[in-house]
Amino acid sequence: MSRVYNFSAGPAVLPEEVLREAAEEMMDYRGSGMSVMEMSHRSKVYDTIIKEAEADLRDLMNIPDNYKVLFLQGGASQQFAMIPMNLMKNRKAAYIVTGQWAKKAWKEAQIYGDAVAVASSEDKTFSYIPDCSDLDIPEDADYVYICENNTIYGTKYKTLPNTKGHILVADVSSCFLSEPVDVSRYGIIYGGVQKNIGPAGVVIVIIREDLITEDTLPGTPTMLKYKTHADADSLYNTPPAYGIYICGKVFKWLKNLGGLSAIKERNEEKAKILYDFLDESKLFKGTVVKEDRSLMNVPFVTGDADLDAKFVAEAKAAGFENLKGHRSVGGMRASIYNAMPKEGVEKLAAFMREFEKNNA
Ligand SMILES: *Cc1c(COP(=O)(O)O)cnc(C)c1O
Repeated sequence: MSRVYNFSAGPAVLPEEVLREAAEEMMDYRGSGMSVMEMSHRSKVYDTIIKEAEADLRDLMNIPDNYKVLFLQGGASQQFAMIPMNLMKNRKAAYIVTGQWAKKAWKEAQIYGDAVAVASSEDKTFSYIPDCSDLDIPEDADYVYICENNTIYGTKYKTLPNTKGHILVADVSSCFLSEPVDVSRYGIIYGGVQKNIGPAGVVIVIIREDLITEDTLPGTPTMLKYKTHADADSLYNTPPAYGIYICGKVFKWLKNLGGLSAIKERNEEKAKILYDFLDESKLFKGTVVKEDRSLMNVPFVTGDADLDAKFVAEAKAAGFENLKGHRSVGGMRASIYNAMPKEGVEKLAAFMREFEKNNA
């Protein structure tokens, strides 16, 4: 068996310990005589799996009691519609457009009401986070929406926007569990798990209880009401059962490492290796303003498309996979999520140094 260093933006690298444990439990989950993939989601065994996953997540993120944790499907993209359908009581919301995912959410919300872009960084290819300290937020806006870590562009909010008393909704798909957060500052904090937590197919929505109501937009399908899933503890219908089981293992892995403060420290160390190199390199250059750099997604370029392609090809041959940047930015992107070992980042930086020497 040989594993590569996988810098994919998502689905992405998972902790080896978790994969090994899942492999060991594949044929016979703890004496049940079956795989978790084969068992009823209504069984006692599975009930323990999903309840423990929720309890561990609550513990890790210090989630207050007046928040529900929902394990849903449909990807982060389905939340782009579900959020306005459930929250847009006044048919108005404020969106901060910091990349493609925020823009998609903003466009989707326009189907349901007046979605106002109150700030954007599109003028400079989303390479920074706009100043959000004093935005012109409509009084009657139902919520303010952000994408907290911009997976494609590699920017991250270092301070949350001043919402002027409005509910904050955040897509944290690509920074989920990368550092401690104060959940109480959000109305909804959600993300697809396939970036920084588990396998594709699960979306985790953490939502303040008072936002879960029957009062949704007319025509909202049963499956797209938060209340449906909250009332049934995420078991209204068959949940993405195996994916939740893997997420639960990742939560335990994080707890064993010391929780979110410990993982933040590791993530900072890892990101520093790459950013320090980019800052001193004469060939490679980071594409994001320093203050807004993400700890998770690190885009960089040489400035020459042919050289970029050569780098990606040689890196792949050397065991560094998925370094090609998103087509809208070009160049390269190294996604260095929680499960990417520090060694992988050190070796990538060394490889880049060597490439620079050979291509000076
Ligand atoms: C990947 C990603 C999405 C889309 O996720 P899907 O699960 O494919 O719908 C949305 N937001 C962010 C920040 C992402 O990184």
